[in-house]
Amino acid sequence: LASREVKEENTVIQVKGATIGGKELAVIAGPCAVESREQLIEAAWAAREAGARFLRGGAFKPRTSPYSFQGMEEQGLKLLAEASELTGMVTVSEVIDEESLAMALDYIDILQIGTRNMQNFRLLKAAGKSDKPILLKRGLSATVEEWLMAAEYVMSEGNQNVILCERGIRTFESYTRNTLDLSAVPLVQGLSHLPVVVDPSHATGKRDLVLPMAMAAVAAGASGLLVEMHPDPSRALCDGPQSLSPREFAQLMEKIRPVAAAV
Ligand code: PEP
Ligand code: MN
Repeated sequence: LASREVKEENTVIQVKGATIGGKELAVIAGPCAVESREQLIEAAWAAREAGARFLRGGAFKPRTSPYSFQGMEEQGLKLLAEASELTGMVTVSEVIDEESLAMALDYIDILQIGTRNMQNFRLLKAAGKSDKPILLKRGLSATVEEWLMAAEYVMSEGNQNVILCERGIRTFESYTRNTLDLSAVPLVQGLSHLPVVVDPSHATGKRDLVLPMAMAAVAAGASGLLVEMHPDPSRALCDGPQSLSPREFAQLMEKIRPVAAAV
C-alpha cells in the first residue's frame, strides 16, 4: 500500500488546513517534552511567529533511563490541546503503547510513533485503526525496507495517512547522536508515495548541526522538518543540547526559505 507502484501520485496529508507532502514545506517545532503550561505556550507562539504550522511536544517520553523524566502524560496532552486552541497550531505528540494512543485520540492531531516503537506491531496496528495521521519515525537501526514495512502495518489496518520521518540511524560514529541518512529521502520518495520528513535534532544531537542538516534535508527534497525548540534550552528536562532557542529557530526558518523555494 505504501508503494509507488500501487499509487503513483504523492500522498498529501491535510490536517486543520495545514498540509504535509504538498508544495509547502511542513515544519514541526517545539520542545522534546511538554514540561509546563508556560513552557509549551511560549514555544507554541515562538514556533508560529517563525512560520511553523505544527507544534510538537512529548507527553509520553520513552527515555533510555527509567529514572529520567517520563513526561506529563494526560496533563501534557491537555496542554497541547490548549496550545493548539490558542495558537491554531496543529499538534504532534508521541504515543508509546495502545493505552497512550487511546488517550491521545481525544487531544492530538497527529500521532507520532517513535524510533523505539517502529516495530511494535500491535501499536502499529492500533495506529492503523485510528483516523489520525501517523508520523512514523525510522527505527534506531532499521533498514528502509523494515521502515516501509512498518508503514505497511499501519496502512493495512485502514489508515493511509502515514508520514515517514528520517531521524538518523545508529552507526559506529559517536561524535553525533545518530547518523543522518539523507539519501533515504530521495530513495524512499522513489519507492513510496508517502511524505518523508527529516528530524535533524535527534539525528545529530547537537544544536550547531541542526541548521546545516535542516538545509541539506530541504535541498534533498524532504516534505518537512521536525525541529526541537525550547524557550530556554539550558533548562530543558529532555534533549536540551540539541534544542534551538526561539531565536535560533527563527533564523533557521529564514535560512531554509530560499532552499525550499529552489527545490
Ligand atoms: C522525540 O521526537 O522526542 C523522540 C523521542 O524521537 P525518536 O523516537 O526519534 O528518538
Ligand atoms: Mn527529543
